[in-house]
Amino acid sequence: MNIREKTYAVLRKRVADKKAERVRIVEGLREDERFDDMLRRANSLRWDCVLQKGEEQQNSRRLLQETEQQIERYLSEKGYTKSILSDTESCDLCHDTGVYNGGMCSCAEKIRRELTLGRSPMLKEVPDDLAEVDLSFYGERAQTYKKYISFLKKAVVNGEINFAVIGGKTGTGKTYLGCTAAKECMKNGGDVLALSALNLNQKFLAYHCAFLEAKQELWAELAEPDLLYIDDLGVEPLLNNVTVPYLYGLLVERIDKKTIITTNLDVVKLEQRYGERIVSRLLDKRKGAIMTVEGEDLRF
Ligand SMILES: [Zn+2]
Repeated sequence: MNIREKTYAVLRKRVADKKAERVRIVEGLREDERFDDMLRRANSLRWDCVLQKGEEQQNSRRLLQETEQQIERYLSEKGYTKSILSDTESCDLCHDTGVYNGGMCSCAEKIRRELTLGRSPMLKEVPDDLAEVDLSFYGERAQTYKKYISFLKKAVVNGEINFAVIGGKTGTGKTYLGCTAAKECMKNGGDVLALSALNLNQKFLAYHCAFLEAKQELWAELAEPDLLYIDDLGVEPLLNNVTVPYLYGLLVERIDKKTIITTNLDVVKLEQRYGERIVSRLLDKRKGAIMTVEGEDLRF
């Protein structure tokens, strides 16, 4: 299931749960015979108002009004309003379908965001959009960082570059830039997964050890997102027959999707560690690019 399917599944479940909860409350209230009688009387009076004529109808209308007031008073004493008696939609825009104006309704977008940030918590810490990055933070280097940001926005988020490696020493803010680019993709409607290289390696190992039936879903989680962000490649232990072959397989499969990787390693070290095949894929002339963030340590 991709993030959009998951979003609609969560929305459907929430709508169904809310409905079930409402039904449960009304059934509970109707256990009080006095209240149950009021509801029955109101129902029967509604029919009378339709079927009767003249004075009789006037009389029934008046009685119905009184009964409805009684019902409202009763509900109010219990802490409810009369809306509890009928199915009300949570979203006026999409009528709880999650689809509005040919796209995902804002109510479903909220769920998509919750789900994305839930599985990629590192995205919670960064702005939604590269344009929101506070350049004053970089002091004298603001102009240089402006170029990095503009490259990420034009070439990666909105452009042709599918494999972007952000190199640079610890503390240069490359995680912040990479995560913000990933979050901008999420904001634009993309299915985004952000995880550390350590976590990715664990997922490769889980895939390696999984039974055949479970493999497909484990692999899809990594292969399907529109954008995969891998933080700090190079710190994970190299597992024999796991790390390098699965990383290569994943990059091959993600050729038409976006992958952003941050690393402390330079190209030579990347090649020593992961081999020429992986590096040439990451630095492919048309689809790949490396951006090295330089600068003094910005953490302090
Ligand atoms: Zn809606």
